[in-house]
Amino acid sequence: MVTINNNKDTKTITNSKIDEGENNVEVRVFKCISDNNFNELKKIFTLYKLKADLYDNDGMTPLQHACYKGNKEVMEFLIEKGADVNNTHHEHKYTALHFAALSGNSDVCLSLMIAGAKSYITNTIGKTASQMAAFVGNHNCVSVINNYVPKSDVDYYTIPKGIETKAKLLPVLSFPLYNYIMQVNIHPVRLAMKMPNILLKEYVQVKKVLELMCEREMKKGAESNEVLSFKFHYLGYILSEIYKCISLKKQTDPIETFAKKILKGSRGEEYLDFLLRDCIREFPYREGLLFQQIVKSLARKEDAPPALNVILSAINSQSNFNDDSTPCVTCTEPKAIKKCSKCKAVQYCDRECQRLHWFVHKKECARSTTINISKDKNPNLEQISNEISSDFESLKM
Ligand SMILES: [Zn+2]
Ligand SMILES: [Zn+2]
Repeated sequence: MVTINNNKDTKTITNSKIDEGENNVEVRVFKCISDNNFNELKKIFTLYKLKADLYDNDGMTPLQHACYKGNKEVMEFLIEKGADVNNTHHEHKYTALHFAALSGNSDVCLSLMIAGAKSYITNTIGKTASQMAAFVGNHNCVSVINNYVPKSDVDYYTIPKGIETKAKLLPVLSFPLYNYIMQVNIHPVRLAMKMPNILLKEYVQVKKVLELMCEREMKKGAESNEVLSFKFHYLGYILSEIYKCISLKKQTDPIETFAKKILKGSRGEEYLDFLLRDCIREFPYREGLLFQQIVKSLARKEDAPPALNVILSAINSQSNFNDDSTPCVTCTEPKAIKKCSKCKAVQYCDRECQRLHWFVHKKECARSTTINISKDKNPNLEQISNEISSDFESLKM
């Protein structure tokens, strides 16, 4: 990638043109990054008091090189030195985020987003960083970029606006709501299990703010993010459904009531599908491409996929069936390592997940000592699920 040579054609974008030769300090900077030699890089920066935004002959900065290498340590060092995360001097107008997306390192993508990288910037072929990541199959990067929300987007509602005497959101709700929004695993049971009580207690405020965030994402012009808009709608919908499970008469736990409705075997699946189709129907912004694709995926005559798979594909740009690791049967968190000690046929994250699932599993457990339930995936479903994922990916191209 680094083409530092005696290239004769002068590029106007390189404000510090690179000479040939190993002794050139800028050449050494790019060499250190290419060799992952962090110590030497730090020494050079201290010794020569360099600016972080230097350019190679392609107009690439050290930060962009570090991102392309997926080197988080170097990336953070260069940002600390003042590197511009949204620099687009590269000859094809790639940003650091474009390069990070291509590297496949989702941690680097996340750090860049936190440092203020703008995910809507497109390169000379009109592609955003997340579109480039999808193109090369780096789904984890697509997911991180599309789902990133700055904390300030939530804090915004904790301050009264204009003639308001009261803010829309109590400051104490800002953190719990932000954590709810930033969860990667958005399976309804998982969302319920991780739901802070205070969000249910202050349901009216929280629901309203999620609606406003959903609307705001659609009305940002060039910066609009339909994925996030739909995600806020979905999160608000799930919150409402859990809230409805609060029973005034009985002292039951609404989270448990909600989770059990879904976990109830095939009846639970039917219930969930009905619920999520209703959630999709209630999405208020129907003009967007993402919404159209969701509807199209659900309208298949034969083998209509579960609405949950369609939603997960739309939001996370990947199928939950693609992961080879064994997910928790309660909340679908990947790499669940605790097996049911009796039948060893199902696995859970922890005791809480096992406890919630026991009311269904106890019958199977007695029967299934010889049959491995976890292997009993529906291959047809897996195929459909992959198809939906690729539909959404082509949409994001
Ligand atoms: Zn679990
Ligand atoms: Zn068991």
